[in-house]
Amino acid sequence: MDVVQFCCGLINCCSVTPANDGAIEYIASFLQERGFQTKILEFSEGENHVRNLFAKISRGQGKNLGFLGHSDVVPAGDGWNTPPFSATIVGDHLVGRGVTDMKGGISAFCIAVDKFLAEKNFEGSISFFITGDEEIGTYQGILSVLDWAVQNREIPNDCLIGEPSSFEKVGDRIYIGHRGSINARLIAKGKQGHVAQPKSFDNSLLKICQCITQMKAFQWKHDDLRFPPTNLEPTLLYTGNYAENVVPGESSANVNIRFSADYSSEEIKEILSSIANQFGISIEFRVSGEAYCCDDENLKNKLSRAIERVAGISPKFSAAGGTSDGRHMIKYCNVIEFGVQDSTMHQSNECCKTADLKILQNIYYEFLKNYFECD
Ligand SMILES: [Zn+2]
Repeated sequence: MDVVQFCCGLINCCSVTPANDGAIEYIASFLQERGFQTKILEFSEGENHVRNLFAKISRGQGKNLGFLGHSDVVPAGDGWNTPPFSATIVGDHLVGRGVTDMKGGISAFCIAVDKFLAEKNFEGSISFFITGDEEIGTYQGILSVLDWAVQNREIPNDCLIGEPSSFEKVGDRIYIGHRGSINARLIAKGKQGHVAQPKSFDNSLLKICQCITQMKAFQWKHDDLRFPPTNLEPTLLYTGNYAENVVPGESSANVNIRFSADYSSEEIKEILSSIANQFGISIEFRVSGEAYCCDDENLKNKLSRAIERVAGISPKFSAAGGTSDGRHMIKYCNVIEFGVQDSTMHQSNECCKTADLKILQNIYYEFLKNYFECD
């Protein structure tokens, strides 16, 4: 089957997290027909039911290469020129929700594996881990799948993630890691009062603004140059007060910090807590993931050689970008992330050149050959 045709079938499944609409079964039946053992892993909590897929094929002893992807997509939103869940070819582009993030990557790997199994002898295993809730990230997706994989001894040696990683051209960038991410919520308590009577109030809004300004001005160290610098951004400021003559008694704010491996989440939390303390502000944290970076030169080399051969360019290794399920997989094995361009992900009219899907498929095929050391 052709990669574009396969991808159209997958886009036509309206799998907005946590819905599945046949997406997991679509991939499973394709792999089953090629000799894979498949297992649908459904995990539930309350109303939340998430379908995930594990599939594996083994040919003798040898390394186990994992492919990690997600079949769920973000909601369509407004502004589409074509139906988002009905794949459409417009000129030289395939348009539809999820074509870049990341049904295109899954399709390219499925078709590459199909060709690889038909044409090459290899020693080892190929495993698929397809999750159904990456865009929301509850416990019923990758975390439950990994718990299952540990219990069943199905953790691969290395893992390729097919998320969109390329920048201007397919092959120009490989993600070898990501910065860590923490969301912090600040609450400042003061005393409400009349704006004309400064002695009567304690301005919570002023306190929280000063606190955020000081957090933003903190000089983060940047010794680990594999990562972009650590950065903090305020994302929400709220007082609930719309009266022009009232000073708010309570204000709250959210900030997000993306941090390099110069810091652990604990260290970031300590620094921010001590700044918040100076202003008498309470702070709570939610850690999305630690910073990580893959140092396996051999794995990086096998992928970059495949890209050079197919696309004729040398990829840049980067640890920028947002977080992915790689932050969980990295606890168990090497992780490398490579896929099409990320420029239209989560946007309306999400699209990818059909030629780029074929290039990606060919790169994955070359990578499989390099990984299993086939001629
Ligand atoms: Zn994604």
